[in-house]
Amino acid sequence: MKTQGKKWFKKKLDAMRLLDSYAIEETVERIAQRFGISPLEIVKLNQNENFFLPKDMLRELMQQVMEEYDPRIYPQDEEFRIKEKLSDYLNAPTDCIIIGNGEDEIIERIARLFLEKGDATISVTPTFSFYRLSANLMGAKHFEVPLKKDFSLDKEQILATITSKTTLLFLCSPNNPTANQFSIDEVEFLVEEFPGVVVVDEAYVEFAEYSLLPLIEKYENLIVLRTFSKAFGLAGLRLGYGVASSDLATILSKKAQLPYPVSSFALKVALELLANHDIVEKAIRQLKDERGALIKELNEVTGVKAFDSKSNFVLFQTDNQSDEVYQKLLRRGIFVRNIKNSLLKNCLRTTVGLPEMNAKMLRALEKPAVNRNE
Ligand code: PMP
Repeated sequence: MKTQGKKWFKKKLDAMRLLDSYAIEETVERIAQRFGISPLEIVKLNQNENFFLPKDMLRELMQQVMEEYDPRIYPQDEEFRIKEKLSDYLNAPTDCIIIGNGEDEIIERIARLFLEKGDATISVTPTFSFYRLSANLMGAKHFEVPLKKDFSLDKEQILATITSKTTLLFLCSPNNPTANQFSIDEVEFLVEEFPGVVVVDEAYVEFAEYSLLPLIEKYENLIVLRTFSKAFGLAGLRLGYGVASSDLATILSKKAQLPYPVSSFALKVALELLANHDIVEKAIRQLKDERGALIKELNEVTGVKAFDSKSNFVLFQTDNQSDEVYQKLLRRGIFVRNIKNSLLKNCLRTTVGLPEMNAKMLRALEKPAVNRNE
């Protein structure tokens, strides 16, 4: 009996070892240590965070929350209150809203609820990798349909990939890492044609032109996901939300949710920020202005082509090997993302940082490559 149990355990462990993990990149601390510099010197442009919300303002807000905060008690009404506030902000009914520990946790929750071993899921490629990882964790087979050359959806190919096993379609719009927004008509067409649930990830939508939220009323098989990590600048606090039909949202909230998915502290800070939404709007406007300037300046660098962006990051292609460019920037303390995708040769992704951050990145990009001992 004992041996049998162990055999099962060993087999299970072997299978689990084969699972892909979310690429935890090098951290600021590790890079700083490697190059013998202070973490404060690193220009962090690798994870699409939002530095346009002033850190001091956010700290002040957190301080206010701290004044009355009691960490000894479990979250009480904060989740309900944030759903009410989001309901006003989104113009969607409270019972259509789902709260999660970052959007990631809701993606994982959807996979947990909808997928069984042997099911199939679809996303485009390139896109956010966590869709594939969540599907694979549940034993589902994940299929990736390449975007067209202009980064638009290949609808026909997506439909051709559907089988009797297909249950979930993940679309990210604006898409990470290509930064373009898919057309409403094309996404609506897919929501209509797709036999299962369509998850539209709008993590970056505040920097874009339109949202698919109004379609929620029309389609029961649509879930729109959002986050406080990007436009609201609260990536460290881990808070995301979703909107779906009230039936689906209720199941996702009440049947598949952890007892307390989000800390009451994160919820209280988000409530404060929602109450001061003009600050967020101002930051979005500033970021979009800077994005235009960054794209223009990137395109002025010899051997660099920047793509248009409807997001808070910019994808650019280099004549040189992206591995080399990535290392060259890193040696100068500039931390961007090296995009490894066969459809995006020699591409890197940079967050739209504050003007001084982008200026440092551009200066480093323009300099010729030098060796490690420079
Ligand atoms: N969706 C996309 C497309 C993202 O790029 C990210 C973050 N990199 C997330 C979701 C995760 O959001 P959150 O921080 O709310 O988990």
